[in-house]
Amino acid sequence: MISSGPDHVIYMDNNATTRVAPEVLEEMLPYFSDVYGNPSSMHSFGGQVGKKIIESREKIASLIGASPEEIVFTSCGTESDSTAILSALQSFPDKRHIVTTRVEHPAVKNLCERLDSLTGHKHRITQLPVDREGLIDLEHYEESLTDDTSIVSVMWANNETGVIFPIHEMAEIAKSRGILFHSDAVQAIGKIPVDLSDLPIDFISLSGHKLHAPKGIGALYVRKGTPFVPFMIGGHQEKGRRGGTENVAAIIGLGKACEFAAAHIEEENTRIKGLRDKLENGLLEKVTNSMLNGHKTKRLPNTTSVSFEYVEGESILLHLDRYNICASSGSACTSGSLEPSHVLRAMGVPFTAAHGSVRLSLSIFNTEEEVDLVLEKLPPIIENLRGMSPFWQSEHKGNVGRGGSHCGCP
Ligand SMILES: *Cc1c(COP(=O)(O)O)cnc(C)c1O
Repeated sequence: MISSGPDHVIYMDNNATTRVAPEVLEEMLPYFSDVYGNPSSMHSFGGQVGKKIIESREKIASLIGASPEEIVFTSCGTESDSTAILSALQSFPDKRHIVTTRVEHPAVKNLCERLDSLTGHKHRITQLPVDREGLIDLEHYEESLTDDTSIVSVMWANNETGVIFPIHEMAEIAKSRGILFHSDAVQAIGKIPVDLSDLPIDFISLSGHKLHAPKGIGALYVRKGTPFVPFMIGGHQEKGRRGGTENVAAIIGLGKACEFAAAHIEEENTRIKGLRDKLENGLLEKVTNSMLNGHKTKRLPNTTSVSFEYVEGESILLHLDRYNICASSGSACTSGSLEPSHVLRAMGVPFTAAHGSVRLSLSIFNTEEEVDLVLEKLPPIIENLRGMSPFWQSEHKGNVGRGGSHCGCP
């Protein structure tokens, strides 16, 4: 299954992207070679491809409790997010207020922040704050909605911390006020059950490469009856909702990945959660001055974000990389200075901890041996880096001996 040996990669960065499942790849391959017809063609060579797309749409719909006509294929999660938000603004051009959160993925956050220049209109954006555990105050949310609000866009689960928002309650509240509701569910779908059948939600974004399908394929759920204005204008594909010849193989891969997710969601919630907890508890126990970022239980089963005070996340990643361990940090290296991520800043994670955050995100392809290896390798890395950190030394006089400079930006 997974290649092992000296080059074996311990991949714990599954919230960034996932491995294409072998079953998914196998299902896709014929559509690159033998079965290359265009689904819009009149001949049966193309028609057989159209049938596979119908099947794929059914599989996606079935995973999230939707009907197949409510699924529109897009090129990625980002396109799905843009499509939903821009559609709402065009459907209600007189409404100029958007409610979102401070912890959205850049696909929503940066779009909302640039709407004025994109549409030529002034928009008012409310970015709801989160508390220290990454959660939203529902009363505050309710108060933020006005008659001028066109759409609420709130992610289902956070990509950095895994924190899950109360989407059901939030969607109900928006619905009772007649406001469209979008959720970026890219991190949730495939990891936790998402059932839209009794949920008054208008738009849901998902992305293939976060659930073992390839990169460059996404879908947008558009509830029957929700006003919709297409983003990509072109041919009549997707019943006129998204122009452009279908990315056939990837669409078939996404359908298979949804079937794969449905079959593995139980494992995701038990075995993977067990591995995640073992990893997280082990790190928090072995490393002093470490803390969990995000709510302990209202969280995806595969994700942990841990901060190690007085070290740089980037330095930790570089050292992990030497053991072929892939993780990610909650900061972005910009022009030589490390800015903690907007998510950790919004949560009020203290400066000394925000800089030393590491996100480990698992998938069904991770094993207990891998967790044990990370538990063996990571704590000494932190100890070593702290030995070189002047901040740590000034805070813990006498604890550490070696001097040296603070680890810089790679
Ligand atoms: C990865 C991700 C996206 C973007 O999806 P792409 O397919 O890479 O464009 C959007 N939102 C969240 C929460 C994500 O994790």
